[in-house]
Amino acid sequence: MRPASFRHHPARSVDEALTLLASEDEDARILAGGQSLVPLMNLRMAQPSALIDINGCDDLGRIDEAGGWIEFGARVRQREGELSTAVRARLPMVAAALELNGHPATRHRGTICGTLAHADPSAELPAVAVALGAEMVLRRQGACRIVPAEAFFLGALETCIEPGEMLAAVRFPVQPARAGWGLAETGLRRHDLALAGIAVAMLPAGVTRICAFGITPEPLRLPTLEAAADDLPRSGGTPATQARIAEALAADLEGADLVDTLHASARYRQQVTATLAARALADARQRASQETAT
Ligand SMILES: Cc1cc2nc3c(=O)[nH]c(=O)nc-3n(C[C@H](O)[C@H](O)[C@H](O)COP(=O)(O)OP(=O)(O)OC[C@H]3O[C@@H](n4cnc5c(N)ncnc54)[C@H](O)[C@@H]3O)c2cc1C
Repeated sequence: MRPASFRHHPARSVDEALTLLASEDEDARILAGGQSLVPLMNLRMAQPSALIDINGCDDLGRIDEAGGWIEFGARVRQREGELSTAVRARLPMVAAALELNGHPATRHRGTICGTLAHADPSAELPAVAVALGAEMVLRRQGACRIVPAEAFFLGALETCIEPGEMLAAVRFPVQPARAGWGLAETGLRRHDLALAGIAVAMLPAGVTRICAFGITPEPLRLPTLEAAADDLPRSGGTPATQARIAEALAADLEGADLVDTLHASARYRQQVTATLAARALADARQRASQETAT
């Protein structure tokens, strides 16, 4: 398969990339790791008029830590984030999500921002970004806006990035002391995109943020389950706990546009999400208690 013809613009800096983006029409796209875009182009499911190639932009390749945040520039590869000592120590759920994202070969090329901008419903990192309260740094020539992760994802493969804009960076608040996290997913094979999954961020002072992925077109916060999480017993495995989780999840999913495919029905996705939630909540609680003990 061959892609339709397109203009290719290699950029050497973020400013050059933004200038090139501004000079092109609204069908121009950023080329980051190419792990999702290139296969789609080869199948002609994506036909961008031009690609602004950011692989030569060294100023977008930094992982910076400042003021309680860790920021990833748009060219930081998934593998770089996964192996970063700072990320593993202070953003362990991000490191865990990156480990689940594809294979080492795809992670060496694919970028952290590319995964977010691509917004696949089954991707791990968008849900983790929502659960952790990440912020997206969106830039266009001469302007910058910061968008909370929760407002960034609009639907399947759809974000609030506007023509002429790029996701220049994403930043995550570092995990506070006495916090815990849990990330659980199921898929056809390990390292495939998930059929269903859940990310739990258990913060101090009883705040729990939970986000599901793979069951709706965009990552979905689960407020009823979040409110119930504090009262659930420590062990996630008892039938009574499972029933309470399933009940809270059903309330959160009422009226939701559930993903229903040949590989997994909407009903299956909902049922397995309840099981995954019990597991992720138990993991988060255990990690939070270990943090308190140390
Ligand atoms: C075998 C295989 C297995 C995979 N498994 C998983 C998995 O388990 N979980 C998962 O989440 N993903 C998985 N993926 C997808 C992979 O992680 C991609 O790397 C990711 O979806 C896109 O990142 P990228 O840097 O390659 O972006 P690209 O493919 O270059 O771009 C993807 C889209 O995002 C846009 N884009 C990229 N960067 C920016 C930016 N900075 N600003 C604005 N727009 C931008 C592009 O224009 C394009 O529309 C898999 C891919 C393969 C090939």
